[in-house]
Amino acid sequence: MSHNPNFGSPEMVAKARESAKRKLEERDQFIATLGGKDDRGFVRLQGVDVPFRYVMLFQKVFAGKGTPMECIKVKCLDCIYDPLSPGDAMQQIRECKAVTCGLHFIRPKTRGNNQKSIITA
Ligand code: SF4
Repeated sequence: MSHNPNFGSPEMVAKARESAKRKLEERDQFIATLGGKDDRGFVRLQGVDVPFRYVMLFQKVFAGKGTPMECIKVKCLDCIYDPLSPGDAMQQIRECKAVTCGLHFIRPKTRGNNQKSIITA
């Protein structure tokens, strides 16, 4: 395995930040072409309301280009994510209790489940 001697260098960090910024700009431009987001933070993509943060992921999966894990993540987001419920999308997926769902044991965030629950009651 090769080791990149520049890993973590200021130039590399700046490059990564620039790349992340460009991706956010591309996402926001794409959202604008879809008519923007609603007051819940969803955008309408191919007839489906999707959380704006994940619109590029949904687009990739809808185009048949997602990895198996990305497809599962999109399915779980579509199934459980509610912006009005406690926690962010990944926390809500982690809290899923539907053990009879075929995706339950391979859903995102299944590993490292020792994080604090978002359910307080
Ligand atoms: S694992 Fe849970 S969140 Fe994911 S699709 Fe199944 S029921 Fe929905």
